[in-house]
Amino acid sequence: MNSDVLIVGGGLGGAALAWRLSREGIPVTVFERETEFRDRVRGEGLLPWGVNEARDLGIEPLLVQECALPIAYWTSHAWSQRSSRNLIESTPRGAPCLDFLHAEMQEVLLGAAAAAGADVRRGVRVVRVDPGAPPRVITAQSGGEETHVARLVVGADGRTSKVRDWGGFEPWRAQQRLRVAGVLLEGCDVPRDSVHVFRNSSEGTGALFFPQRGGAIRGYAIRRRRERHGPLSGSKRIGEFIDVCCKTGVPADWINGASPAGPLAEFEGADTWVERPYRNGVALVGDAASSNDPAWGNGLSLTIRDVRVLAECLLEDDDWARAGARYACLHDEHFGAVHRITTWLTELLYEIGDEAEARRERAFAAMSDGRSRNPDFVALGPAAPSDEEARCRMFGESYPSDGLRNVSEGASPYLRRYTAAK
Ligand SMILES: Cc1cc2nc3c(=O)[nH]c(=O)nc-3n(C[C@H](O)[C@H](O)[C@H](O)COP(=O)(O)OP(=O)(O)OC[C@H]3O[C@@H](n4cnc5c(N)ncnc54)[C@H](O)[C@@H]3O)c2cc1C
Repeated sequence: MNSDVLIVGGGLGGAALAWRLSREGIPVTVFERETEFRDRVRGEGLLPWGVNEARDLGIEPLLVQECALPIAYWTSHAWSQRSSRNLIESTPRGAPCLDFLHAEMQEVLLGAAAAAGADVRRGVRVVRVDPGAPPRVITAQSGGEETHVARLVVGADGRTSKVRDWGGFEPWRAQQRLRVAGVLLEGCDVPRDSVHVFRNSSEGTGALFFPQRGGAIRGYAIRRRRERHGPLSGSKRIGEFIDVCCKTGVPADWINGASPAGPLAEFEGADTWVERPYRNGVALVGDAASSNDPAWGNGLSLTIRDVRVLAECLLEDDDWARAGARYACLHDEHFGAVHRITTWLTELLYEIGDEAEARRERAFAAMSDGRSRNPDFVALGPAAPSDEEARCRMFGESYPSDGLRNVSEGASPYLRRYTAAK
């Protein structure tokens, strides 16, 4: 094998990076352990800011042609009120949401990477990465172990990344507040021209519906973390899933006739990340580098952003150690912004009790003076304001406040602003 870049994992992050670099003539090998992708209950709704990232990376036409359904509206249902937003008219560059079945999207992108010249090896499991100059990847397949050497190894192996450990990165984990359960549903009567977001803040629950090509709906139910909750996983608990959705405000006639078209599985919502996801010949992208609470639907967009930024850094600078270090700084900035905004939104919209209700009352009274207090992360992602002034504006507090200070300078401001439990 003679590759400059070895990528561990052929999900969105690994496949998109392989596609992009191969098109520039950089020899790339992707190792993907699965021979066939199945429904793992993963992201199936790409937010408008992520669609713009996909445009800039160059994969948007491929997604739209092969697997995605553009959705022009975003409808919020809360406090018995419904408000629909036309995303094409109200977002920069007129981006819709793109919904797709995750496994199908992986297949499309990995196929495109191979067609662009990447050496894609399916059914090959990476069992170790040795960082260094040069870094090495050790794979296991039926013929035994094999060692591969390259200029750069990229860990794109998802939220339970092993490359993260092998590379010597230190993982951080925010406080867990929410849990997210998802299932693909057939036979729903959900209006299909919109993404639907339901929220019952007094109960600390939410539900999201992403219509898919072919008629199915990806549904997610969001609950606060409670010890007494068993995981909302497994086909026997589908009735309970539907119950949580209905209690959140989803009309019963939308989903009462629904049946599962895939597994039901629940996941922890806590953000996890490493600081500076490049060291010693190994870079991390996508969930391996950082995962944002799935309740906010930013993971796909963040992954595409990582890929675009890393590819640009590598293409602009022949010194890949320097390019990797630059990527790592930029990553911390964009993940930090999304982490801050979604942490505030979780506090505002999912906390329960008297104090939380008072906070909501104050914030919503302040917001009624116009849209600009609400960080529009659906449209803007990390470009939405996320400094201390933005936080005060959103919560209806005076600025500067006596609480947290603005520490937006530096590469990883989120680490200094929130206490993260390791
Ligand atoms: C319940 C849930 C709902 C979500 N909903 C949304 C949403 O609506 N919108 C959104 O934007 N994001 C959402 N996300 C997040 C989104 O799914 C992820 O951010 C995204 O899939 C990350 O892509 P990735 O390529 O980094 O990792 P993955 O998609 O996990 O890909 C990793 C790949 O690496 C392979 N691999 C792992 N280890 C090895 C190994 N040792 N050797 C070889 N191959 C290996 C795996 O087989 C896999 O194919 C959701 C996540 C969850 C859990």
